[in-house]
Amino acid sequence: MKFAIVSKGDQKSNTLQQRIKTYLQEFDLQFDEEEPDIVITVGGDGTLLHAFHHYVHRINETAFVGIHTGHLGFFADWVPEEVEKLVIHIAKTPYQIVEYPLLEVTVRYLDDMDEQKYLAVNECTVKSGEGSLVMDVEIKGELFETFRGDGLCISTPSGSTAYNKALGGAIIHPSLPSIQVSEMASINNRVFRTIGSPLVLPQHHTCMLKPVNDVDFHITIDHLFLLQKKVKSIQCRVAEEKIRFARFRPFPFWKRVKEAFVTD
Ligand code: NAP
Repeated sequence: MKFAIVSKGDQKSNTLQQRIKTYLQEFDLQFDEEEPDIVITVGGDGTLLHAFHHYVHRINETAFVGIHTGHLGFFADWVPEEVEKLVIHIAKTPYQIVEYPLLEVTVRYLDDMDEQKYLAVNECTVKSGEGSLVMDVEIKGELFETFRGDGLCISTPSGSTAYNKALGGAIIHPSLPSIQVSEMASINNRVFRTIGSPLVLPQHHTCMLKPVNDVDFHITIDHLFLLQKKVKSIQCRVAEEKIRFARFRPFPFWKRVKEAFVTD
């Protein structure tokens, strides 16, 4: 089996990265940063996001496992003290693959530029280049509302504990293939009206955002920031592709939520 290790880049994570590399090579596993079967991330959830986008072209061949060197993460749930145990698991035991839904974002343009497709692990956010964001929100091909406000966040179930949660969105179990549309400070008065509640859409219900006036936007895909010009539409839906995690022991999602947000 071929492995790669992505570190957050701080000293603690880099030291651990070296230790894991040495251990796995002692077990005759092959270090291969080009075509790894398994990618071990050392750092936090943000490190997993970076690793995912680095290896997105190998989405069906690569599985991820995360070690956190800071606080407990949703994607990084092994602690540094468990590294030896994890290494033995990776080297000796066939692991279970757990797949989580992703968000597919397709940006289409007013000029001849080819459409761009992105996959997000957590979310896509859309904000205006200048002033309030004004966009028609279509659901399944029907106009649902015209949104006016700071921005919109379209998240995956596993991203529901990230930016979406800060926007008052619901936490969604990753076994539900769905996307959630949540608002950032919508303008609601006698003239302008939006639903005001986060919307959870099932697989194959597409959410299409269409500019009303301004056609330049700030879009994020997870940690990636993209300035998009002359946008015709932004289409969001549950992706066909999934992110694959190597699972060596059960760690139920709700237990993770409790440990991350409720108890110490
Ligand atoms: P960052 O601003 O350095 O850190 C964002 C924080 O979100 C980190 O503490 C990170 O955990 C945590 N996080 C990432 N994915 C998560 C998940 N699925 N569930 C719970 N927490 C999660 O940015 P970054 O590390 O590059 O990560 C980009 C992400 O930041 C975006 O995808 C977005 O979700 C999030 N974000 C959140 C807000 C907000 O809550 N107001 C605003 C902007 C962006 P670690 O410390 O373990 O890495």
